[in-house]
Amino acid sequence: MSVRSNLIEIKDSLPEGVTLVAVSKVKSVEEIMEAYNSGQRVFGESRVQEIIAKKDFLPQDIEWHLIGHLQRNKVKFIVPFISMIHSVDSERLLKTINKEAGMVNRVIDVLIQLHIAQEPTKFGFSYEEAEALISSPLLSELNNIRIRGVMGMATFTDDVDLVRKEFRTLNGYFNRLKDRFFKNDDNFNEKSMGMSDDYHIAIEEGSTMIRVGSSIFGKR
Ligand SMILES: *Cc1c(COP(=O)(O)O)cnc(C)c1O
Repeated sequence: MSVRSNLIEIKDSLPEGVTLVAVSKVKSVEEIMEAYNSGQRVFGESRVQEIIAKKDFLPQDIEWHLIGHLQRNKVKFIVPFISMIHSVDSERLLKTINKEAGMVNRVIDVLIQLHIAQEPTKFGFSYEEAEALISSPLLSELNNIRIRGVMGMATFTDDVDLVRKEFRTLNGYFNRLKDRFFKNDDNFNEKSMGMSDDYHIAIEEGSTMIRVGSSIFGKR
């Protein structure tokens, strides 16, 4: 299967309103161009160094999404161009993104990463921590970020019932936050959940954004 046919098959299967983020980490500029030439414009990368190394060799109208853990000292390198940061997992990171975005006169779309998996190693807020952050007075002072929704990763397992339960939990967290803090904010509307092995389940559980790598580009 080619990148083009993989992409077309996935895109054709997506319901209206679900954005496909093509995860191109480890993949070459040529492979990314194959996806671009098949119509894909939204790409996700996990590492700042890798995005920086590749983006100047690729078309300017690509929307880059940062999906991996972000260190605060690297924020300044991506704020000039990044479209969305999925992986906000601390208040300090959010403040740094706001500050650096202010320096380049941008407002950056971000997602709050919530910890929904059983593995202890995954990054992200608990629901209570996310609510504390979002309800804090500090938030109204952060004029250079816009909170667009939530992101989460399910446990790496064959247990589809567990994966479904975790996505359902994330959807519930989104609904609670929406109801309590973003009722009148139409921009708070994204749920980034689902990867190659579980995006079908994620969509059934309300995903609006899937992050798919290996099903498009092949194994890494
Ligand atoms: C690598 C990665 C993906 C894509 O994983 P695939 O299984 O290749 O689809 C999605 N989300 C995050 C956060 C990733 O790091």
